[in-house]
Amino acid sequence: MKYALVTGGSRGIGRAVSVALAELGYNIIINYRSNAQEAEETLRLVREAGSDGEFLPFDVANAEQTAAAIAKWQAEHEGEYIACVVNNAGIRKDNLMLFMGAEDWSSVLNITLNGFFNVTQPLLKDMCVKKFGRIINMVSLSGLKGLPGQTNYSCSKGGLIAATKALAQEVARKGVTVNAVAPGFIRSDMTADLDEKELKKTIPAGRFGETREVADLVAFLASDKAGYINGEVISINGALYT
Ligand code: NAP
Repeated sequence: MKYALVTGGSRGIGRAVSVALAELGYNIIINYRSNAQEAEETLRLVREAGSDGEFLPFDVANAEQTAAAIAKWQAEHEGEYIACVVNNAGIRKDNLMLFMGAEDWSSVLNITLNGFFNVTQPLLKDMCVKKFGRIINMVSLSGLKGLPGQTNYSCSKGGLIAATKALAQEVARKGVTVNAVAPGFIRSDMTADLDEKELKKTIPAGRFGETREVADLVAFLASDKAGYINGEVISINGALYT
């Protein structure tokens, strides 16, 4: 049994990733923070895709909660390990820096950066010992280009891109790959408040992306076929930023 942990798997891109990895044969550990009802729907879709899954709710920004949840899972699954982790949980708290409060700055960084560390660090040893691991970090065009109104978000995703490249070099010899996926505008709850009609005029492809399109890219990176892609940031943005 191969297990994949998807943080923020209850909705949006994380849900689509859970389903795509289930189709690949992974058993899915669905993480979320509070939305149990939406997580139920993800599990239903995972089962419909022919695999199985379980819930592991915790706040990725909370070090103790995350450590306890992962340690409990590991204790209950002796001899097995989490072969794939998709660090997907994320939030937006947009504002011009001039008006940005400290809480909006730190909450975005805590979830993206500390979340990545809290979740990934306890999984690394098993991946290295078993000589197979897939770590996929959900970043953003915002972390590559920098977007006004998103200094917090751009900073967090840019930092995660740097961590992706550094960690890839630490673990490549052990058969572990670490890559980042950088979406542009994808239709989900996170982008529901945006003016899609206006924004899509700026996208050469002429539309927002779908969660499933991001999920298919993640699934390829999680597959055996992608073993030599390591330390990369792969954009998926309809040519919005090349
Ligand atoms: P979404 O629809 O808002 O879903 C966010 C998910 O993250 C939910 O499952 C939520 O859980 C979970 N989450 C939030 N904070 C968490 C925490 N502290 N601990 C655990 N889980 C947490 O967002 P999305 O559009 O699918 O985005 C997913 C990822 O893609 C994010 O990292 C985002 O930055 C990135 N991204 C999105 C876009 C886009 O256009 N949508 C573009 C570029 C990058 P609950 O359901 O429990 O709240």
